[in-house]
Amino acid sequence: MAANYDYYQMLGIQKGASEDEIKSAYRQKAKKFHPDVFSTASDSEKKNAEEQFKKINHAYQILSDPQKRAAYDQYGDENGPSFRSGSNGGGAGGFGGFGGFDDIFSNIFSSFSGGGRQRNAFAPRRGDDITVNVVVDFMESYFGVEKEIKITRSENCKDCNGTGAKGGTAFSTCKRCGGKGTVTFKQNTMFGQIMQEAVCPDCKGKGRIITDTCKTCGGKGNTRNMRVMNVKIPAGIDNGQTITYSNEGESGDNGGPNGNVVVIISVKPHPLYKRRGNDIYFEVPISFSKAALGGEIDIPTPTGKMTYKLPEETQTGTVFRVKNKGFKYINKELYGDILFTLIVQTPQKLSKSQREILEKLESSMGNNQDEKARKFKEYLK
Ligand SMILES: [Zn+2]
Ligand SMILES: [Zn+2]
Repeated sequence: MAANYDYYQMLGIQKGASEDEIKSAYRQKAKKFHPDVFSTASDSEKKNAEEQFKKINHAYQILSDPQKRAAYDQYGDENGPSFRSGSNGGGAGGFGGFGGFDDIFSNIFSSFSGGGRQRNAFAPRRGDDITVNVVVDFMESYFGVEKEIKITRSENCKDCNGTGAKGGTAFSTCKRCGGKGTVTFKQNTMFGQIMQEAVCPDCKGKGRIITDTCKTCGGKGNTRNMRVMNVKIPAGIDNGQTITYSNEGESGDNGGPNGNVVVIISVKPHPLYKRRGNDIYFEVPISFSKAALGGEIDIPTPTGKMTYKLPEETQTGTVFRVKNKGFKYINKELYGDILFTLIVQTPQKLSKSQREILEKLESSMGNNQDEKARKFKEYLK
C-alpha cells in the first residue's frame, strides 16, 4: 500500500541514504514514538505517537527492502509494476549481508504486541505493591511495637464489580475484535507477509465496550480509597527489614489478585546502645580507683538497671558480656547478649587533698607496675 507521506522525510533522511543510515534513523525514530514511552501520556498524545510509530514502521519496511525501495524511488509507490510479494524466492539468503531488518522488527514489536503485558491486556494482572516506610525507636525495635499506617490504594469498584460498566452488566462484546481483545494485521516484510497481533484499539484489549458507565468509578473499574492498617512490628526487628502484608496493595486488573503492602522499617539510632547482629554494645565509664578496687557497678539494660560485680584490677577497654539481654531473634525464643566495654576515666578537677593522695600513690607505686609498664620502661634505658 502506498502512503500519503514521504518515507524519507518520515525517517528524516536523504533519498540516497545507505542501508545503515536508514536502519539507524529508524531505530531513533521508533524509539522516540514507541508505545511504551507513552504509556502514561494523555490519550491524544498516545494516539498521535501510535500513528507516528505506524508510519515510521511502514516507511522503514519499504526503504529497507531493496525491491520495494527501488519501486518507491521510481514510481513513488512501493507497489509499482516491478513489485510482487514474495517474488525474490530466495528468502533471507537472497539478500546476503542484509539481515538487520528482522532483528529490529522483532525487537520493536516484542513489547508492542508480543510477550509484553499489552498482549494480555485482558488477562488477570496482579496489582502493584505499596511500599511504606515506618520509623521506630531503638527501644521499640527491642520490645516490638504496633504502629498505625495509612495507605491510599485502588480498590475494585463494588458498584460495578470492577468492570466500569453500570451495575457490572452494562457492556457489550467489542465488535471489532469479537471479544478477543486483540486484532491481527498484515505486515509486509521482505520474507512475505507476517500476521501481527496487537491490542484491539476499540476496546483497548478488554474485549468489551461499556454501554453505560458506572457513576461511582467513572468507568475506571476501581476507586482510590484510604485505609488504616495496624502494623505489628515484632521484637528484634532490625533497620531495613520489611514486613509484607499479602494482598493488601493495589487492586489487580481483570480479576487478578491485589499486590502487597511492604512495610520497610527504619530504626532510629540510640544515644548509648549500638546494635550488631542481635547483640547490644555500649561503653561504661568508671573511675580508675573503682577499676583497681573492683566491686559492684550499675549498668543500664533495655529492661532496666542491673548490678554487675566487677573484678579487681580491671583494665580500661575490657569487654564484659551479659547473656541473653540483647535483641530477640524474630520467630525464635533466642536472644542476643549485651557487651559493655569499661572505659577508665582519668580523674579531673582534683581538690588539693585528692592531688596529694594521688602523688602519694604515684610515688608508692615504684616497681609495683604491671607487665606492660615494665616492658615499656626497658625502652627508656
Ligand atoms: Zn476489541
Ligand atoms: Zn464502578
